[in-house]
Amino acid sequence: MLVPSAPQDLPPIGTEIAQHLDWDRRYRHMRIHTALHLLSVVIPLPVSGGAISAKKGRLDFDMPDAPEDKAALEEQLNALIGRELPVTQDWISDAELDANPGLVKTMSVAPPTGAGRVRLIRIGEGAEQVDLQPCGGTHVKRTGEIGSVRLGKVEKKGRRNRRVYLHLTD
Ligand SMILES: [Zn+2]
Repeated sequence: MLVPSAPQDLPPIGTEIAQHLDWDRRYRHMRIHTALHLLSVVIPLPVSGGAISAKKGRLDFDMPDAPEDKAALEEQLNALIGRELPVTQDWISDAELDANPGLVKTMSVAPPTGAGRVRLIRIGEGAEQVDLQPCGGTHVKRTGEIGSVRLGKVEKKGRRNRRVYLHLTD
């Protein structure tokens, strides 16, 4: 759904509108967003927040101690990207999601239930599957599209949380 920027009202039903998509910006968002899925694979801890821009993204983890080896995490990330894993979607019912609470990594952002079904994003297939979680975001089709990434700052956010930044290198 498209929502006009505040404080405009929704146009009346039947209004003809043109949508302009800034593809370069959108594609960078897709690459960074998909890379954040992989960040949650190499740092398998509960996620309490996140944000993206066209240049970088970040996730906040429930991580009381700083990661010991940032370079190794960055290497694992780039190795996952280099495996060219397919990114696909599946739909499950709200009831199936309720029966599998382990699918939800984000503690603060509840998956969009209520419509009766929830979209799952899967990275890799079969024995090669590395991630599966409910997500309504935009993703690239294969991990290789992300290109190489580097890990940026790791900031302490409160007693239990750390904010980890990820940057595209181009
Ligand atoms: Zn996603």
